[in-house]
Parts: sequence; structure tokens; C-alpha cells
Amino acid sequence: MDCLFCKILNQEIPAQIVYEDDKVIAFNDINPEAPTHVLIIPRKHIATINDIEAQDCELVGHMVATAAKIAKQAGFADDGYRTVFNCNEDGGQTVYHIHLHLLGGKPMGWPPYQEKLKTA
Ligand code: 5GP
Ligand code: ZN
Repeated sequence: MDCLFCKILNQEIPAQIVYEDDKVIAFNDINPEAPTHVLIIPRKHIATINDIEAQDCELVGHMVATAAKIAKQAGFADDGYRTVFNCNEDGGQTVYHIHLHLLGGKPMGWPPYQEKLKTA
């Protein structure tokens, strides 16, 4: 399978890993959008969040809990942070192995997109 994040999991491509356990790994995004920008991925290949099955729900919960753990360790849990799953083209997904973005260390804008909704 030609999956970039499976290659990082298999150590075929290097990454700055900040956390790992038997279910997930977390590593620094190569193109950070915040002082801390970490991607939390499951060891199991799941292409998009549309492909999450009932038996994966504990795993996905563990990804979220891992983001909170990293935020606490980084020291910005109380100040706050952003977590994001992008899904498919309109969601801005570019790597088709689910990943939770953890962005922290600066105030985040909302909404995160630039274009206004067309009302006409
Ligand atoms: P997406 O757009 O799919 O939600 O997020 C993919 C993320 O993966 C992007 O933020 C991008 O910067 C990051 N990324 C792409 N290629 C690599 C890589 O080779 N190494 C790392 N560490 N991050 C990557
Ligand atoms: Zn994969």
C-alpha cells in the first residue's frame, strides 16, 4: 500500500516522533501552522474518517485523548488548542490515512476557512 503515513509508521520515511504506544504514534507536521503542530495517527490504516467502523471508536477516542496528553505535556492545555480531522477533498485532506491535527501555542482564529458562504 502506497501510504505516506504507513511509511512513517514502518520507519521507511523519517519523522520527529513525539509520542508512541501500541495503538498510535504522534509526530511533528513537516509544515507547521502553529508553534506546536503534531499529527496523531493510528497504527491501523484507515483512509478517511468516513471509513471508521464501530470497532474503531475506542481507537479514535484514544487519538483524541493522546492529543490532550500531548497538549498537557507541551504546557498549553489550559490556554487551549485546536484539534482537526480533515475529510476528503472539501475538508482539505491530502494524506489518506486518518490523522488528528493538534495545533497549539498561539490563539487560533475561527472560522478556519477564508471564503464566505454564498447566501444568494
Ligand atoms: P491533511 O491535509 O491531510 O489534513 O494533513 C496532512 C498533513 O501532513 C499536512 O499538514 C502536511 O504538512 C503533513 N505532511 C505531509 N507530508 C508529510 C511528511 O512527509 N512528514 C510529515 N511529518 N508531515 C507531512
Ligand atoms: Zn496508511
